[in-house]
Amino acid sequence: MTPRDDGARIDEDVIDAIGALGNRTRLEILLALAEAERDRQEQWLRMSFTELYDAVDVSSTSQFSYHLDRLVGPFLAETDGGYRLTYGGDKIVRTLLAGFYENTRRFDDTDVDGVCVFCGSESLVATVDRERFVVRCDACESRLLTDLLPRSQTRHRSAEEVVDSVGARIWGSVTLIRDGVCPECYGVVETTVESHPRDDRTLYSLESTCRECWLAIHVPLEAIVAHHPAGTAFFREHDVFVFERPLWEFFECIAAETVTIDVATVDPFSAAVEITLDGETRRFEIDDELTVTPVS
Ligand SMILES: [Zn+2]
Ligand SMILES: [Zn+2]
Repeated sequence: MTPRDDGARIDEDVIDAIGALGNRTRLEILLALAEAERDRQEQWLRMSFTELYDAVDVSSTSQFSYHLDRLVGPFLAETDGGYRLTYGGDKIVRTLLAGFYENTRRFDDTDVDGVCVFCGSESLVATVDRERFVVRCDACESRLLTDLLPRSQTRHRSAEEVVDSVGARIWGSVTLIRDGVCPECYGVVETTVESHPRDDRTLYSLESTCRECWLAIHVPLEAIVAHHPAGTAFFREHDVFVFERPLWEFFECIAAETVTIDVATVDPFSAAVEITLDGETRRFEIDDELTVTPVS
């Protein structure tokens, strides 16, 4: 969203574009293009005025032409070979098909493996709380993890399958934010380290915010060390396959102090990390750029 010179937060063009979508014929035009793209397995597929007119139920060509014009620009590109979906048009069709505007569906509370980082208890439960996926500890009532849960993620999946799908997705998000990429809009993500004093210890998290879409993601700092190739390899040498298990199972490594962090200075950030498995220790450093470096 580019701010306007007059300080208004939302440009008129954006209001017009979003307003153009509230019409059955226009949504059907976008859908017809996506459908043809799927059926013909063709990228950048173009459809002529006549082809699109035939694909959509509308009473006159003049009316159809009016609806088409409302979409050209943000959602459709008009070319010599016909009309094709723009990135925005493609995104709208996916939003429509996935039902992102529908409320999140609940699933039955599901016991999940793992250990609470706060109380060490093995009583983690995956649930839906106010439309978000949540892993909480039944023993101390702490919330260990929350994530977005679109309706599409809960469709055609049992409760266990929903939980597995979130588990798979979270590591994907960690991979992206580690490289400064927003998992939602691919914009620039800025990350800081925050400390969370808790009883006798302090936990550290990476708090990432997308500069473009404001998505905020928090993950334990230890996760980026497990993500470093040398960290992943060390775990693998000890038969721990970090990415085969969801992030909340990795919390056990934090609770059991398999991974420990010793923060030297917060600003600029500098910390030493140790992973100890089967009596063997591998050391890493994290600098102010959040670069992880193995220490030989
Ligand atoms: Zn707990
Ligand atoms: Zn974003």
